Amino acid sequence: MKFIGEIDLANKTVYCRCDYNVPLDENRNIIEDWRIRASLPTIRHALGKSARVVVISHLGRPKGNPVPEMSLAPVARRLSELLEKEVALLPDCIGDEVRSSVKKMKPGEIVMLENLRFHPEETKNDDAFARELAAGADVYINDAFGNAHRSHASNVGIVRHVAECGIGYLMKSELDYFEAALENPVRPFVAVLGGSKVSDKLEAIENLSKRVDKLIIGGGMAFTFLKASGFEVGCSLVENNLIEAAQRGMDKAKEKGVKLYFPVDAVIAQKPAPGEANMIVPVQEIPEDWMGLDIGPASTRLFAEVLADAKTVVWNGPMGVFEIDAFSRGTYAMAHAIAETHAMTVIGGGDTDAAVQKAGESENMTFISTGGGAFLWLMQGHKLPSIEALERHESSRG
Ligand code: AMP
Repeated sequence: MKFIGEIDLANKTVYCRCDYNVPLDENRNIIEDWRIRASLPTIRHALGKSARVVVISHLGRPKGNPVPEMSLAPVARRLSELLEKEVALLPDCIGDEVRSSVKKMKPGEIVMLENLRFHPEETKNDDAFARELAAGADVYINDAFGNAHRSHASNVGIVRHVAECGIGYLMKSELDYFEAALENPVRPFVAVLGGSKVSDKLEAIENLSKRVDKLIIGGGMAFTFLKASGFEVGCSLVENNLIEAAQRGMDKAKEKGVKLYFPVDAVIAQKPAPGEANMIVPVQEIPEDWMGLDIGPASTRLFAEVLADAKTVVWNGPMGVFEIDAFSRGTYAMAHAIAETHAMTVIGGGDTDAAVQKAGESENMTFISTGGGAFLWLMQGHKLPSIEALERHESSRG
């Protein structure tokens, strides 16, 4: 698989798949432009090499229809501000009008095509759509890590129809940091998992158990494990159908010699709502009609101690319902504890990224991933379909 720096881009039309799936407010202002900023090194590199840059992306879930509220117009404007250069948004991502506009581009110019998901063929990885999308491209660069676990036309199918393909700076950083942490960790290697869904994380636990020295499990998912260990956890979030699987996960981790850590206390309330009365109790003492919504101070101290000697840390998933102030302290304390280690710290995207930002610790982490789903996919030990497509492309060229 090639890196953009190894490909001759001069005077070429370079299609660059970015992940501009940014959050918008009700007035369609961008709330958080980090994913756009993360694409700048690749775009600046291509423009600097006198390429004609055509940026492609999806935004939201328009379900195959042209939904004006999900137009990439705000993204094109923001990218234009960041680059200090005009970024015209073409009215579609395929079709004669798009093709003739791209043909007229001059070296060093950049345009953006409209939301790929306005066409149902995109998410179906439809080959005819992929071919049409690729029609004007001399080079295809995939820099959309956040979408890399999907098999869509713009990141898998398209590769068959472009002569020269590779990855951009962001994709390379994401893969390099992940590999450094998971495949080649300096030890002790500590993984921290949180969030609500055990179903998503069981595979990750199994895969991580082959690699980590210590595994900290917090967040709502911890209660299924605590229940499996014989604790009564009131009406905390428990995936009853996964209790046995959770027990097997713990057994496997122990067989591999992994040290497992769970919360020892919790901030509890009767509902996950702002303003609810709450209290801190040991996990053994959660009343029947109360639920654990954050880790308590004793857990925070325990986890900080577990992390103190870490040399590699991977963190995915909040320790509590951090969106509500009263249940956010454990997650922020975890962000501070991880930031204080002398470890390489790799943070999974989505909620965890938002929590690290709110804790003011973004600058103190080694790497924050732009992809939630793709990051989890890698933690589960899977290969990314978009990367496999690029590897197949390269090996078919000999
Ligand atoms: P996930 O999508 O599985 O990573 O879960 C993220 C969500 O988990 C966040 O929205 C948190 O509010 C939620 N969460 C974390 N801890 C708890 C908890 N103890 N009970 C219920 N939800 C939780």
